[in-house]
Amino acid sequence: MNAQHPHASIPRWRAAVQWGFFAWTAVIGIRFGLFVRHFESGGATPLVSRPPGVEGFLPIGALASTKQWLATGEINPVHPAALVIFLAIVAMGLVAKKSFCSWLCPVGTLSEGAWKAGRRLFGRNFRIWPWLDGALRGVKYLLLLFFVKLIVVDMPAQAVAAFLDAPYWAVSDVKMLLFFTRMSATTVAILAVLAALSLLYRNFWCRYLCPYGALLGVASILGPFKVRRDAARCTGCRRCSRACPAGLAVHEKKAVRSPECTGCLTCVASCPEREVLRMAPPFWRRPVPAWAFPALALLLFAAGIGTGMATGHWQSSLTYDDYQRLIPLVPYLSH
Ligand code: SF4
Ligand code: SF4
Repeated sequence: MNAQHPHASIPRWRAAVQWGFFAWTAVIGIRFGLFVRHFESGGATPLVSRPPGVEGFLPIGALASTKQWLATGEINPVHPAALVIFLAIVAMGLVAKKSFCSWLCPVGTLSEGAWKAGRRLFGRNFRIWPWLDGALRGVKYLLLLFFVKLIVVDMPAQAVAAFLDAPYWAVSDVKMLLFFTRMSATTVAILAVLAALSLLYRNFWCRYLCPYGALLGVASILGPFKVRRDAARCTGCRRCSRACPAGLAVHEKKAVRSPECTGCLTCVASCPEREVLRMAPPFWRRPVPAWAFPALALLLFAAGIGTGMATGHWQSSLTYDDYQRLIPLVPYLSH
């Protein structure tokens, strides 16, 4: 590839953004762990302020919260950040493909780190037979359908309100923490299998199982941004398709409309021709700087979170006394 290629640095920038966000998420997790420990220890360990960002790990509750918000206009005060983060990510999906998956999601970052490590270890990544690959890709959409039907379609408004008022929802973030910090043998076994498959196959979790990614893929279909190919100047070298982690045939398309496209821009960075591949809206005819799409995606995320904070929908309404009462009950609470 031409060393002067304007988009050649995208993969490096993407890795920096991904691991930077991963580190930020890890700090949030550690701070939340210390917060919970304070209450578990009866106040013996220092109190660390609770980071609301931890609510990003409550997507199912966020879906219930979204339903309540759409029906009543009220934002659930117990975990408002869950809804704010969810809406910010969906907004990214509506405008900027599945950019959350390829630029920010910490699970996506681990998944990508795993297949790249696997490639170094085994000299390549493996491929699942096309018929099985196609069937497995459908699993994440089925999981999405299951959750949408369960919560959005079948759950009556009163049941949603009761769920969002219950102690279980109040401590669902603590339950999520304990799920990972005090894993059962079954959880360890499932995670070990997923880790092994992630080493062998590209983005195993994201490609086949993640309902969040499925939602963003569906949201992205109508979005304006697509990878667009100038067929007249394309040499047909196929480097874009060979590089695409989603396995898409970029070299055959005028515009990549697949819900599987994550907006990672790997294809754009791999194309040796200038301005033959671009991530752009349909009306945009001028060159697109390499930073434009990721900057837009990150701006959407930051604007969503910023709006939540500025409008007072970020900090939980739960008080110190609430946590003092609820955290010892966590092992006994089930939905
Ligand atoms: S088509 Fe391009 S932007 Fe989309 S997933 Fe493939 S490499 Fe990434
Ligand atoms: S890498 Fe560029 S030139 Fe090669 S097939 Fe893809 S779009 Fe065409």
